[in-house]
Amino acid sequence: MSARLIDGKAAAARLLQEVAQDVAEVRARGIQPALAVILVGSDPASQVYVRNKLRRAAEVGIRSLSHELPADLEQIELLALIAALNANPEVHGILVQLPLPPQIDEAAVLQALRPDKDVDGFHRENVGALALGQPGLVPCTPAGCLRLLQDQLGDLSGRHAVVVGRSNIVGKPMAALLLQAHCTVTLVHSRSRDAAALCRQADILVAAAGQPGLVTVDWVKPGAVVIDVGINRVEHAAGARLVGDVAPEVAAVAGALTPVPGGVGPMTIALLLHNTLSAAQRQHPHAVAT
Ligand code: NAP
Repeated sequence: MSARLIDGKAAAARLLQEVAQDVAEVRARGIQPALAVILVGSDPASQVYVRNKLRRAAEVGIRSLSHELPADLEQIELLALIAALNANPEVHGILVQLPLPPQIDEAAVLQALRPDKDVDGFHRENVGALALGQPGLVPCTPAGCLRLLQDQLGDLSGRHAVVVGRSNIVGKPMAALLLQAHCTVTLVHSRSRDAAALCRQADILVAAAGQPGLVTVDWVKPGAVVIDVGINRVEHAAGARLVGDVAPEVAAVAGALTPVPGGVGPMTIALLLHNTLSAAQRQHPHAVAT
């Protein structure tokens, strides 16, 4: 048996096409959706992520404002920039690229964002809305994973989903979304006893641990749909390579599997632009077609 490869690039392209159409509609009603992206320091991976986000934004007609700031920036200066962007009616979404340098308190910065401009969905108001099942901005990576799962399986109701990882960015919001989709949800983390046995029960397995090759064949029930969120840079004799949290051999037992790269990554960017559009629509309800 060989797993179907889930094409995240194609799914992201479809979503971006929908976003582009809706952006055009909002623009025709006089609103130009705009995303401010803040990058502090010069981490090469973050620079690549930001560049990709800006490029995709332009492709769907979203204006972007890029703020590239030095690594020794004071927290107070970053908070002042966020306050200005919060108050700017021409900016609908604000993204602070993580990680931030050590002198800056990440939590304080994320809580300073206006919740309706928090397109990453990390502000406690959006986290609370997700937990309560109320409208809000949902973190992009888990929202992208959910769409890939629904594309594969349709209704997720009653399926047993196991999420490996309990971070605020991926694991916890992923579990909340799967619960909302009526899955039975198990969260596995570094203190879980017998993670392999827990994962083997999964109809849906989402790996978000940041551990290359953690999920091996004996962790996967034959036919399970496996979403590999991990992005791990591994050095080889031939140079660096990006690998996921799922070992390649899992393709022999899974029913479907996302590749790394080309699986979850492209969906994350598409959902960011989707969130920016919906932030603009919520801030300007008159610009939404009825
Ligand atoms: P994180 O904050 O480091 O969290 C990792 C989680 O995995 C923690 O909850 C940790 O448990 C758990 N874990 C670590 N080792 C484990 C093990 N051996 N067994 C079971 N659980 C284990 O990472 P993150 O920000 O959630 O990111 C996870 C991965 O996804 C990373 O590779 C990251 O690069 C990638 N990522 C990809 C995208 C994308 O767009 N594709 C977006 C975001 C993140 P404890 O809580 O007990 O420590």
